[in-house]
Amino acid sequence: FNAPTPANEPVKEYRPGSPEREAIKIALADFRAMETDIPMYIDGKEVRTEHKLRVAPPHDHQHTLGYFYEGDGQHVEQAIEAALSAKEDWASLSWENRASIFLKAADLIAGPYRARINAATMLGQSKNAYQAEIDSACELIDFLRFNVHYATEIYQQQPNSSPGVWNRLEYRPLEGFVFALTPFNFTAIAGNLPTSAALMGNTVVWKPAYSQALSAKVIMDVLNEAGLPKGVINLIFVDGPVAGDIIFNHADFAGIHFTGSTGVFQQIWGTIGANIHKYKSYPRIVGETGGKDFVLVHESANADEVATGLVRGAFEYQGQKCSAASRAYIPSTLWPAVETKMKQFLGEIKMGGTEDFTNFINAVIDKRAFKKITAYIDEAKKSGQVTVVAGGNYNGSKGYFIEPTILKVSDPAYRTMCEEIFGPVLSVYVYEPSEFDKIIETVNSTSPYALTGCIFAKDRYIINYVANKLQNAAGNFYINDKPTGAVVGQQPFGGARASGTNDKAGSALNLYRWVSARTIKETF
Ligand code: GLU
Repeated sequence: FNAPTPANEPVKEYRPGSPEREAIKIALADFRAMETDIPMYIDGKEVRTEHKLRVAPPHDHQHTLGYFYEGDGQHVEQAIEAALSAKEDWASLSWENRASIFLKAADLIAGPYRARINAATMLGQSKNAYQAEIDSACELIDFLRFNVHYATEIYQQQPNSSPGVWNRLEYRPLEGFVFALTPFNFTAIAGNLPTSAALMGNTVVWKPAYSQALSAKVIMDVLNEAGLPKGVINLIFVDGPVAGDIIFNHADFAGIHFTGSTGVFQQIWGTIGANIHKYKSYPRIVGETGGKDFVLVHESANADEVATGLVRGAFEYQGQKCSAASRAYIPSTLWPAVETKMKQFLGEIKMGGTEDFTNFINAVIDKRAFKKITAYIDEAKKSGQVTVVAGGNYNGSKGYFIEPTILKVSDPAYRTMCEEIFGPVLSVYVYEPSEFDKIIETVNSTSPYALTGCIFAKDRYIINYVANKLQNAAGNFYINDKPTGAVVGQQPFGGARASGTNDKAGSALNLYRWVSARTIKETF
């Protein structure tokens, strides 16, 4: 086992006139000019149905980017069949052969596919060029390369032997097929969930979010060009309950690799529990779910750093990150400076479509999200407990645009301080410095989630104190930085409590879940 040691893929800046900017402009124009045909891929074949659904940019929802084909129960069955029949050949292929397909996929994205996958993410999911670059290019490339690296380490973990006895661990894939259910908000996650399970020798049925269909197609194109054999990853567009009904009743269901909402994950967990006697093995359940990520500010913090962390953490990609800063606790001594600075930043930020590279804020993903987020804003405006510090306006006529909104609440248990909104809404509670201990307890107890969180403080005793007090409140804890933007290989990502099973994406901890080890003892 001697896979290349990875380095993180450098982030390109897309400066005006740079070759990468020109390449992405061409890719954007190409996607704009044509209607992309997005089939399902089952057993290596493109599958089309009578049921075509339209793909549109969230920031320009009357424009048609293309169509994908929705399948039904028989396509789910075909995808499972394909995964099961590909299994034996795939699992017995040597490790180097499996790994090299994913390393090649990483190189294809780093090179010839970079502009295309970024443009698909920019148009289909309304990400600006920088947000697309750190997701669909860098993070996905890193996932593919680092997973190979961590898998290499796993395979090398072997038990002790003694004279006359040779013991070994065989890291076998799970028996059956794995189901990958992926979200709209990160193309990297959509790419990682099926490929990480496949790298360890599993075959996969992959159901992406419909609103990510365009970049899902580019991922599939890359995997096909990298030489992924047929049936190893089968891409289906099927309604969730229809797919779930077949998958979670199947004897060969071996595990789910999930990123999405807490509600859906809990429902799936319940279904798997109710069906447990139907399966050959206990399925692996790996999920990264919701978040209500905190920013706790101590009076020793630097106000400018706090304001930058809040604006970036709360509003990049319109707050549609599980990790987004969505509730902040700021001492009254710092609030005036933080408020002024945040308003200054927001005054400089532009909102609009992704093809104009100067827009920092783009649209939220769809009408449903737009309605849900704006309902929170409307309710807050009517409530006597909330002051709208910034933003609060929205307009869905051309695209689903919502201004970055800051709500100052008088009750730290007000809804927007506890519930996941998944949009550009930051709630702030201003506390008196003498209440700091009470605030730490509030941070710990007002939301059921524990994904990310951060402390801004210069006082080292305080940093240490808060880190200890909030041990279980965040799977990713940041000191003097925003709670978003985990880098593969540097900050393994995942949370506990209602935020997931904490099987850190892009790490050995995650890959272990996709193997079922056999211990072999041989006596000479
Ligand atoms: N890994 C991402 C981050 O650190 C968040 C992933 C998600 O939203 O699911 O910001």
